[in-house]
Amino acid sequence: MSAGFVRLPSVERYWLRGGRVPVAVLAEPVPGLTLDADGLALVDIEVTGAQIGRIERAEMTRDDRPEVRLEGGQVWPCFVDLHTHLDKGHIWQRAPNPDGTFRAAQRAVADDRAARWRDEDVARRMEFGLRCSYAHGTRAVRTHLDSQGPQAAISWPVMRAMRKAWMGRVEMQATVLVPIDAFAGPDGERLADLVAESGGTLGGVAYMSDAVDASLDRVFALAVERGLDLDFHVDESGDVGARALPRIARAVLRHRFTGRILCGHCCSLAVQPPEIVEETLDLVKQAGIAVVSLPMCNLYLQGREPGRTPRWRGVTLLHEMKARGIPVAVASDNCRDPYHGYGDHDMLEVFREATRIAHLDRPHGDWPRAVTATPADVMGLARVGRLGAGLPADLVLFRGRHWSELLARPQSDRVVVRDGRALDATLPDHRELDDLMTEPAS
Ligand SMILES: [Zn+2]
Repeated sequence: MSAGFVRLPSVERYWLRGGRVPVAVLAEPVPGLTLDADGLALVDIEVTGAQIGRIERAEMTRDDRPEVRLEGGQVWPCFVDLHTHLDKGHIWQRAPNPDGTFRAAQRAVADDRAARWRDEDVARRMEFGLRCSYAHGTRAVRTHLDSQGPQAAISWPVMRAMRKAWMGRVEMQATVLVPIDAFAGPDGERLADLVAESGGTLGGVAYMSDAVDASLDRVFALAVERGLDLDFHVDESGDVGARALPRIARAVLRHRFTGRILCGHCCSLAVQPPEIVEETLDLVKQAGIAVVSLPMCNLYLQGREPGRTPRWRGVTLLHEMKARGIPVAVASDNCRDPYHGYGDHDMLEVFREATRIAHLDRPHGDWPRAVTATPADVMGLARVGRLGAGLPADLVLFRGRHWSELLARPQSDRVVVRDGRALDATLPDHRELDDLMTEPAS
């Protein structure tokens, strides 16, 4: 990042004074806070070594410890990016999407994967994505891994090595990505075993078909046998008939599945009639499914027809879900690949765009949890994505004070604090991947 807007002292104990926090990300209530209409309150945060010592109402106590004056700039816990595709990322220059549609994205990725996704290629692009995440202030990332045919044996070992190398910087989780009918037969068992050995999450793309319930039964059985959590790509279209989400919810209830389960996208819910929506949301709530929306990728792909201006935003019913108590998160999804031509693994950008696309404002309320505490809970990371005494001092300090300031600019002068110290990480240059973008030697 460019030079931070404040400098932290290089001492064990110091105060971050006069920061504005979204109270929704506090692990526990702080006495005496004065909330503004936007759910923000001024606090002082004592950093003690790698941890948060205390959080108090601003200007409660004075001592002679070094202090950093934030002058009202917002303080967030580090972000959690719940749904990414680090294996696909950053191939745009060699595999662009010719017309920007979902179908063309599938084709472009399939061709590129078959031709180019060997160890080094996947590892270098994955690492590039993680470096972006880290520098922008993300603490944990879940990535999907294309696992068709020979790709599983390449990408999963790369992920395991990467997860080990990044331990303590970015917590990594991985989910298998194949059409769910790929789990039929002994190949399905082998793939589920690979996922289990790799500490991954089972799942896949739940396409609508006559076989969807049977395919889901198979995935659930494989997950239960191995004690795995589940994560699906669901109904990523504006097709009113795409209704895999209630089928997954019914499978949860049928199998009495007790693991964590996440469904991504769920776009088509937004174009379905109210009575269908009601029934589906009841089932999702009952099944304990969490939902992650991918607003930037949805906006890019959904409603795209060459030569025609898009008429819908492509995102699922975030407000209606949250109102029912369904845990909802937003995340990056694809970065600079045929599914989304842009993106930088910056969860502030995701939050800013989600706020605009899905109206996560008026009020902003507890929406900051959608990129912090809620995805951390889905990933089973109880000490991540929230602010509280005794929790790691993993923070992002912003110059922006109010929402209209924070979300107006990219906050490129943010200061990422990890274990109480200012992070010295810069964004990698896109040029670093130039050699991967040329034609492969035949
Ligand atoms: Zn995805």
